[in-house]
Amino acid sequence: MELKKFEFWFIVGSQDLYGEETLKKVAEHARIMADDFNKDPALSGTIVLKPTVISPAGIRSLFEEANASASCAGVITWMHTFSPSKMWIQGLAVNKKPLLHLHTQFNRDIPWATIDMDFMNLNQSAHGDREHGYIHARMRLPRKIVAGFWQDKELRKKIDIWMRSAAAKHDGINKTVLRLGDNMREVAVTEGDKVEAQIKFGWQVNTWGIGDLATRYAKVTDTQALALIEEYAKSYELKAEKNAIIEQAKIEIALKEMLDTENAGAFTTTFQDLHGLPQLPGLASQRLMEQGYGFGAEGDWKQSMLTRSAKVMASGLTGGVSFIEDYTYHFEPGKEAALGAHMLEICPSIAEDKPRIEVHPLAIGGKADPARLVFNAAPGTAVLATLVDLGNRFRMIVNEIETIKITNDMPKLPVARALWKPYPSLNEAAESWILCGGTHHSVYTSALTTEYFRDWAEMCGIEFVLINKDTKIHRLHDELRWSETYWR
Ligand code: MN
Repeated sequence: MELKKFEFWFIVGSQDLYGEETLKKVAEHARIMADDFNKDPALSGTIVLKPTVISPAGIRSLFEEANASASCAGVITWMHTFSPSKMWIQGLAVNKKPLLHLHTQFNRDIPWATIDMDFMNLNQSAHGDREHGYIHARMRLPRKIVAGFWQDKELRKKIDIWMRSAAAKHDGINKTVLRLGDNMREVAVTEGDKVEAQIKFGWQVNTWGIGDLATRYAKVTDTQALALIEEYAKSYELKAEKNAIIEQAKIEIALKEMLDTENAGAFTTTFQDLHGLPQLPGLASQRLMEQGYGFGAEGDWKQSMLTRSAKVMASGLTGGVSFIEDYTYHFEPGKEAALGAHMLEICPSIAEDKPRIEVHPLAIGGKADPARLVFNAAPGTAVLATLVDLGNRFRMIVNEIETIKITNDMPKLPVARALWKPYPSLNEAAESWILCGGTHHSVYTSALTTEYFRDWAEMCGIEFVLINKDTKIHRLHDELRWSETYWR
């Protein structure tokens, strides 16, 4: 996905007390900064510099313009000089876009030999941004604050993480989660409030009958499917006859067509509702995830939407994003680990080596043997993120993990898998995750870190809980109880 299409409006604040000369300098500096940001490949979105704002009416109308803009994915504010914050109240009150408060100054060093009061009055973000930050705090606004010199790489990385999270948020607005069938019968954790999801995340979570897909599937020709299998042969090792793969290729073609027709960024399936289809979409779901669509099994629309959002955040980064499920544990002392997999549907973007297409029976669902991609996940640092609905709010839970190189063959396990050591330890991470009400389904990503999800949760206005090296279960217990009060 092209992230340059997402605009981030750069709004520099000042006031009319300074006189024309100072305001000219402010605009000139902001222009140099914006141009330099746009030349930096480390910043994935497009910075759009707006004229310096100096009045309540100007500020308000700029935020109204940002709200109305279909390409504006977020707003960055910076106070080069002092900009009295009561001027900002009306604008901030109407703002609907994610907000980043950039706290920087144009010059890196203090010019010791020449510094005078003119210089001090021009380069005074150290106090201008404090006035600005106060009004954000006073209005309880969700935002990210990034402080440091504007040319610093670390600072730009933080801005980029926020930009990517905002792009994911923006992508979700007016996109659909296409549910094929309902949630798996009697399962609690994959349920949730779809109306609240649209209010918080923008996503339209709607259902289509599996018959709609079956009709499209029936129209896909063998020629179309065989052409797609030629493509498979370029990216994967084919360990099965073409005619055993052909049904999955047809499902992929039909499903992609349906997703694009319905403007869907994500989809769900369930093995309990496959009428008219020969198989559960296995390889087809893996392939579509690889192409950037979100996926959730057993009707899990929350994780499907989150997989898509993580894919947008991770566009162009090293590493992958996949839907995953905690499956089984290894409790050998000193080598404790969790094995994550699914019945079929793990995205090959997280694979260590070339995935193999294999055909095996499926132990559940009572349909024909589906083709699937089999591989091990690449070792390295990764995170698991999940969303649960607690009745009065959504909670996001993130666990930092280390994926381990798989050295055992597991010749009888016919699915893609990842083996990881969660932090702080397998037992403590599992206790913490379960205490939070975390699902067995989550989004696995080696491309993103906690900060992306934290930024995204902040801009969506939902609870965020982190489980990592610093987690102490008794502190977490308290945190969750305090959280109940905050989110009441
Ligand atoms: Mn599952």
